[in-house]
Amino acid sequence: MCNCANLPENVVEISFSWFLRNSIMTGVDKFPEYFNGLESDNFLPELNETSEHYKCLDCGQYWYIQLDPDECPSPWLSIKYEGKGSEPSKNKIKSAIEFLTILAHEGFDEEPCRDKNCQHYKLKGKEFCHMHLSVV
Ligand SMILES: [Zn+2]
Ligand SMILES: [Zn+2]
Repeated sequence: MCNCANLPENVVEISFSWFLRNSIMTGVDKFPEYFNGLESDNFLPELNETSEHYKCLDCGQYWYIQLDPDECPSPWLSIKYEGKGSEPSKNKIKSAIEFLTILAHEGFDEEPCRDKNCQHYKLKGKEFCHMHLSVV
């Protein structure tokens, strides 16, 4: 059975390459429902490199899904949507990625990002902001 109904609107499975980078993300343990990933064995179409829009056949939930480059084919970034015609826009996808990155690090520090051209605060406990340390 799938876990769609228990998941928030957007989730990301922290990929294996992030574990290898050994970057500590305290928000991942605090908000596990956002980072444990989407689990379903029945997608329409089957998970594949060329599709981004899927329907979970267990519960009927529609998902925008980017596949994990480390571990294909399994969902990496997943965003819920209502159905045909309401697929998430490019901006919606970007804002979901920024939100998940900020949440993974539990927000910002009080110092600016170390990139001199950058206007953002750095992520808590890190030297750079969410634009440089994106989880997707
Ligand atoms: Zn489902
Ligand atoms: Zn920055």
